[in-house]
Amino acid sequence: MDISKFKDLDLSSRILLGPGPSMVPPRVLNALSTPPVGHLDPEFLGVLAEVKELLRFTFQTKNEVTFPISGTGSAGMEAALCNFIEPGDRVLIATNGYFGERLAEIAKRYGAQVDRLEHAWGDVFLPDEIEEALQKADYKLFAIVHGETSTGALQGNVKEIAELVHAHGALLVLDTVASLGGVPVKVDEWDVDICYSGSQKCLSAPPGLAPMTVSPRAMEVLMDRKTPVANWYLDFTLLTRYWGKPHVYHHTVPVNMIFALREALRLVAEEGLEERFARHRTNSETLWQGLEDLGMPPIIPLEHRLASLTTPKLPKGIDEKSIRRRLLTDFNVEISGGFGPFAGMIWRIGLMGFSSRRENVILLLSLMKELLFS
Ligand SMILES: *Cc1c(COP(=O)(O)O)cnc(C)c1O
Repeated sequence: MDISKFKDLDLSSRILLGPGPSMVPPRVLNALSTPPVGHLDPEFLGVLAEVKELLRFTFQTKNEVTFPISGTGSAGMEAALCNFIEPGDRVLIATNGYFGERLAEIAKRYGAQVDRLEHAWGDVFLPDEIEEALQKADYKLFAIVHGETSTGALQGNVKEIAELVHAHGALLVLDTVASLGGVPVKVDEWDVDICYSGSQKCLSAPPGLAPMTVSPRAMEVLMDRKTPVANWYLDFTLLTRYWGKPHVYHHTVPVNMIFALREALRLVAEEGLEERFARHRTNSETLWQGLEDLGMPPIIPLEHRLASLTTPKLPKGIDEKSIRRRLLTDFNVEISGGFGPFAGMIWRIGLMGFSSRRENVILLLSLMKELLFS
């Protein structure tokens, strides 16, 4: 075999300002290259306990059942649904963008009777309309996306929504894949039952783990199931026996990704949650102002804007694909386009985790000015 066509890769200069993955700090890359140890090694069991504690800090929860799922954010989404849905259960899903649609699709595949509470892409939901929708049937759970990465909208009022959901005897599922570690997520104060995220967005580890936390109320619903969880790999009745005592083998967890996540979470704790949220906010505000000055204001109104992902409205008549291509090939900067109803209308610019740095904002704005106007 002629192996000369398989070139050495060097992509270390890429500046990732898309909707994820975000850039990974050197300390996390170092942790990733730790020689693997056995997934039941006593030292590694200590690492599992630390990861759980650091995740509780990050999710702002005391939930015992808090650990990362092996898989990306979508595995977290799937775990959040398959553990609680039995065939025929009625569930209500809020859809105002791509990831709400994915929730509905997954719930359907586990045999749920899915009702959608729909809004146009970019909108957010008001507690009153959620309350009205909850009255229509006896729902087992209600799922909603906190930071909708397809639109750049942040769903507020989560605490109020949780109260309504619980008053109707349902569980609240919250998707925080694009928000955890970048904007406030208060699982206990808001009383969220099932909350999942992804390692590669505002936490700035590589893609491959989905941090997750489950309330005691939701664990009771899980234990009351009449049928086994339809997905063996993501079954929490089994996973909790590995992540807690007696640490029974279930699958070989991706040991190195867990080292990497531990380091990423140590960085979160060292920085402090409030400081981290303020950094995301400040850098995005600089970006928002710069985009407005360039005639490309964010499409989401300020009060619903997600600080980790910005979606500017593109000027008419530009070839947005070729500008993005030049940003990447000539300047090593990645941003992303819109899709679905927003295809060709917006860009998606992520300032997530380690990517959220002032120098990246200044660089991107000056490159855009050059590529758009010269
Ligand atoms: C990225 C993302 C997901 C899916 O995560 P993957 O890591 O791509 O599987 C789900 N929900 C939201 C809001 C996201 O931004």
